Amino acid sequence: MPYSLKKSVEHKGTVQFRIRANKTKTREVPDMYEDKTLICKDCGNEFVFTAGEQEFYAEKGFQNEPQRCKACRVARKNAAKPEREFFIATCAKCGGEAKVPFRPTEGRDVYCSNCFAQMKEEQDG
Ligand SMILES: [Zn+2]
Ligand SMILES: [Zn+2]
Repeated sequence: MPYSLKKSVEHKGTVQFRIRANKTKTREVPDMYEDKTLICKDCGNEFVFTAGEQEFYAEKGFQNEPQRCKACRVARKNAAKPEREFFIATCAKCGGEAKVPFRPTEGRDVYCSNCFAQMKEEQDG
């Protein structure tokens, strides 16, 4: 049956063409990045958004470019962290300044970090 044979070959050709068309369409993402100079929103200084950083941003799926230079970003990150509150008390052992992360309660001895470490060492040993 020569007729049906010819038809199936034609069909195969169409499928091959469609696969090739899809392959070219996925190559839209540029794989080359160039260093870019941006202006920091906080300090107004220029900073470089490097090719490596751009690649990193693209990998993470970030849509926006960085708004701040590295120094300002670090400063903001540190500022966002809630600062630990310290209380100043008098060390019961050496009489020096004892910085403690809790409010010293009356009648309870507070030790400076030096004395505290010393006492802990004695306890452990
Ligand atoms: Zn800045
Ligand atoms: Zn002390």
